[in-house]
Amino acid sequence: MKIGIIGGTGFYQLFEQMVEKTVHTEYGDVTVLHAVSEGKEVYFLPRHGKHHDTLAPFVNYRANIMALKELEVTRIMSVSAVGAINPEIEVGSLSLLDQFVDLTTRVKTYGKYSVDITEPFCPELQEVFVQAATEINEPLREKTTLVCVEGPRYETKAEVQLFSKWGMDVVGMTNATEAALARELGMCYSVVTLATNMAPGVTDHKPSLKAHKEVGERKRETVRTLMLEAIKLADERKTCLCHEAYERAVLART
Ligand SMILES: [Zn+2]
Repeated sequence: MKIGIIGGTGFYQLFEQMVEKTVHTEYGDVTVLHAVSEGKEVYFLPRHGKHHDTLAPFVNYRANIMALKELEVTRIMSVSAVGAINPEIEVGSLSLLDQFVDLTTRVKTYGKYSVDITEPFCPELQEVFVQAATEINEPLREKTTLVCVEGPRYETKAEVQLFSKWGMDVVGMTNATEAALARELGMCYSVVTLATNMAPGVTDHKPSLKAHKEVGERKRETVRTLMLEAIKLADERKTCLCHEAYERAVLART
């Protein structure tokens, strides 16, 4: 089985020994790192590129997800840094995404068909993350709703107050796009987020890249251990409908 791991800020290395590979897709070239673990082929994709410098609005999401598809990856597990809106979510804590509201304006479709995304994240992989977190004894908040914004700027106080009224828990810039593209290609996708700051308006502290990176570094080993445990626990899909939504969409067009 082939698993894709997408890592964000502060998380660039999964295994000590990984072989770099370039995948050519119709949307552009993508660099991935390959290793075999627990009898599973793992492709690690640094979301912001090899040099970690591509800002969220400029990430080539379509190429990234298509590259994993072309490598025959069926399940993607991802980790992202987010800002916490819900005051119950502490900086440095992990949350499992369950729903999102997408406010981005970027291209986020392959433009072939409409897919069912009522439940945007794979329930089986969500369960894998819950089990993995239990195994490593790390608290993981479930049922977390993300508002996905375009960025790269941070949010205004009024925006965060509005998101809070909407019931949003965290704000990020990448996961709605990846989830939609993965669903279009019939791939399972699930995300654990790391809160690297409280969103402006929830706190008087201004968001900063420095603080964001510091928290990422502090929690890097925990996130890495969680991902390794999740890789160990992940299996072939059994009952999830992530692939079926894609098949139905393809059939509806023919
Ligand atoms: Zn699935």
